[in-house]
Amino acid sequence: MKRVAFFIPFQGCGRRCVYCDQRAITGVRDGEAAVTPEAVKSVMRSCVAPVDLCFFGGSFAKTGPSLMESYLETVRYAPEGSRVTFSSYPGDFEGASGAYIIKTLKKYPIGTIELGLPSLDPLVLRMCGRDDDPGKIKQTMVTLRDAGFRLGAQIMIGLPGQAPESSMRDIESIASLMTGETGKTWDLRVYPCLVLRGTELESLFKAGQYVPLVLEDAVREAGALLLAADRLGFRAIRVGLLESASLRESVVAGPYHQSFGELALSEKLALEFAAKTARKEPWKIDPRKISQLTGHGGRGIKRLAELTGISAETVRKSLA
Ligand code: SF4
Repeated sequence: MKRVAFFIPFQGCGRRCVYCDQRAITGVRDGEAAVTPEAVKSVMRSCVAPVDLCFFGGSFAKTGPSLMESYLETVRYAPEGSRVTFSSYPGDFEGASGAYIIKTLKKYPIGTIELGLPSLDPLVLRMCGRDDDPGKIKQTMVTLRDAGFRLGAQIMIGLPGQAPESSMRDIESIASLMTGETGKTWDLRVYPCLVLRGTELESLFKAGQYVPLVLEDAVREAGALLLAADRLGFRAIRVGLLESASLRESVVAGPYHQSFGELALSEKLALEFAAKTARKEPWKIDPRKISQLTGHGGRGIKRLAELTGISAETVRKSLA
């Protein structure tokens, strides 16, 4: 189903997480208002086939009962079979107001609720300026799952205080909640933490209190997560932030690459093939995936050679 995305930067956010600048990420400029329900309605009317109407860039469920419902209502103007997908802060669904939000959402065709986690490590969450109780985050996932919603998890790597093992533990922990009808294939997005201009993280970075991941380490970490995500049953739908001029201009430091997702896929494939070599299994590559190893200066081939001890030349020949 085609996705039609609208950005509502910082709408509903009761905080400013240290790394976040949704205006840089979404390209919606300062002073420019978030899209109105009227504007969304008019786009929905023009759709000719069912769409996945997406609201990203803020905390959708906390935009306020009236605005949230106005946004949700717009799906009624889209072709039959359309649905709504959005991202939200996990804490939005707690307590009485959370129960009310869930009751409201049940009236609409919801595709996926993507939760911006971005970690389940209390220290990391605290250092990022977020609520630091992972137990509550997991409880929210269970509540939404049991209410019949399909979920997505947005996790990050290279956050302040975060180690690679902690991200791996996080996705294993989330996977353990993927049960029941709506829990079979949750979506997963993996974002490397970047230092964006004007954020608190920029001040921490400039004061020497935060050291971002270097690109190669971030790619290796993301590739390992992707491989684990396959094994755990996630549907990995995005790795790396969407490339845009506003993002490019805002990056002060960190593992930024316009094709970060492709590099992570090359790492994933290299790890996959290296594991096969260790088990003495033959390599069999889907021709559509060869470019994942040969692209970006043959990064995947070089990495596979490094992991297996086989020369890059031999690796290259065996893929031909
Ligand atoms: S990370 Fe999410 S909750 Fe935090 S400021 Fe950004 S959009 Fe809002």
